[in-house]
Amino acid sequence: MLIKENFEIKNLTTYKIGGIVKKVYFPQTQEEFAELLRKLDDYIVLGSCSNVLISSNGYSGNIIITSEMKNFEIKGTRVYADCGVKGPLLAQKTCESSLSGFEFMIGFPGSIGGDLYMNAGAHGQCISDVLISCCLFDRENKEIIFMQKQEMDFSYRHSILQTGRFILLSAEFELKKLPQEEIKALLERNLNFRKSIQPTLATPNAGSVFKNPENDSAGRLLDKAGVKNFETENVKVWEKHANFLINKGNATSLDILEMMVKMQKAVKDTYTIDLVPEIIFIGDKTEKEEELCNILYKIKMLK
Ligand SMILES: Cc1cc2nc3c(=O)[nH]c(=O)nc-3n(C[C@H](O)[C@H](O)[C@H](O)COP(=O)(O)OP(=O)(O)OC[C@H]3O[C@@H](n4cnc5c(N)ncnc54)[C@H](O)[C@@H]3O)c2cc1C
Repeated sequence: MLIKENFEIKNLTTYKIGGIVKKVYFPQTQEEFAELLRKLDDYIVLGSCSNVLISSNGYSGNIIITSEMKNFEIKGTRVYADCGVKGPLLAQKTCESSLSGFEFMIGFPGSIGGDLYMNAGAHGQCISDVLISCCLFDRENKEIIFMQKQEMDFSYRHSILQTGRFILLSAEFELKKLPQEEIKALLERNLNFRKSIQPTLATPNAGSVFKNPENDSAGRLLDKAGVKNFETENVKVWEKHANFLINKGNATSLDILEMMVKMQKAVKDTYTIDLVPEIIFIGDKTEKEEELCNILYKIKMLK
């Protein structure tokens, strides 16, 4: 297994932000991954690093990145995938087999592990819609277990994985047969919609900054609160969508946190609504970052 010590992680993240991590592991198979999870006591598991803000101060612990776990299988209408498989690849491969259900994943780079942790969704679909069951590592008992979808406490951008007790090893999905042309048309529609309002990965970002509050859209509230004009030397709010924050090139985690606090405050001042961040902060915080995270998250954080 590839192991990197004192590894600068920023180029693996879609934000292109993150300092030196003490040890980074890249398991390739479920067996390797499970063995590592049994051995290590303290670690953070990441997939495509597309929903995280990693501290520019780095992290003095272990990070396991699942991007080398690329196995998947399509059998009839069932799809089995390792946690590291990327959503857009599965969306394409299942389209080739005339299977519908993953079209929403075409435009963002999440891995199956990250997607299930976040219950990722778009265009009226989400990943739990098509899930059957998961193979998980239970950190408490250090054993592999299987869980049915109904046991996984899914709701909007939430799943049982957020308790921190379970790590996803692989998942099984059930898709529907549909003529390939119809699936292709859905993929194209979804991609075109994204291109019209969202930045591509060439413009470093981590997708939506805040979750939608119930029955409303964070992007709409941020826009009405006037944040589209917000820009500093290193970060700016995307001009076509107020819930996207761009690293202009040299941004640090502190630059992003400072802008997030300004965005959250603008909506609070205008609508008395507390937006909850969708982006997850990871790593060793400076005192200032600790202070900003306490304002932003107001909930227990991962690290
Ligand atoms: C341009 C762009 C567009 C986006 N659009 C959308 C969108 O439309 N809808 C949407 O929902 N999201 C969107 N996102 C956000 C992001 O891609 C998703 O949240 C995705 O699900 C994150 O997956 P990841 O593999 O990158 O997770 P990471 O960022 O690597 O990790 C996110 C969380 O998942 C946990 N995790 C990762 N793997 C595992 C595992 N195997 N077991 C347990 N926990 C794990 C991590 O510990 C972390 O807490 C977008 C991002 C970008 C950059």
